Amino acid sequence: MAGSLGSRTVTERTLVLVKPDGVARGLVGEVISRLEAKGLRLVAAELRTLPREVAEQHYGEHRDKPFFPSLVEFITGGPLVALVVEGPRAIEAFRALAGATDPVKAGPGTIRGDLALEVQRNIVHGSDSPESAAREIGLFFPALT
Ligand code: UDP
Repeated sequence: MAGSLGSRTVTERTLVLVKPDGVARGLVGEVISRLEAKGLRLVAAELRTLPREVAEQHYGEHRDKPFFPSLVEFITGGPLVALVVEGPRAIEAFRALAGATDPVKAGPGTIRGDLALEVQRNIVHGSDSPESAAREIGLFFPALT
């Protein structure tokens, strides 16, 4: 199983973003409260506005999708909060806290399910695999890698 070796769970790091909609709506504390309450730990945190090139690299896997230009506009359109979060199975744990990409389909009790309505403006990002986490942490916080 990803993130575990037998019965011993491996500590992982994941990149979490509170996207510009979450910052504008004053939900940074809410997101951090939820992940800390779960038992995940902050390793790095920074408010910043992304340059276009960083946004395009971050979302590179979506480069050919029709929503890519508007996604880049959105994610560069205001300050976001970038976090590195650590804990047992942190990647999967945060994805579970975030809920499904489409907030209308995300379950109640999840960040997106409780707090958002639109697919693009879905408040948070969380890395989706160990490979993505390593790449994204390297992009946002090179000093940590
Ligand atoms: N997104 C969008 N339109 C879509 C699908 C996705 O604007 O039709 C945005 C949305 O903000 C999403 C991000 O693109 O969080 C990345 O999409 P992905 O499928 O990787 O979802 P995630 O991993 O964020 O749940």
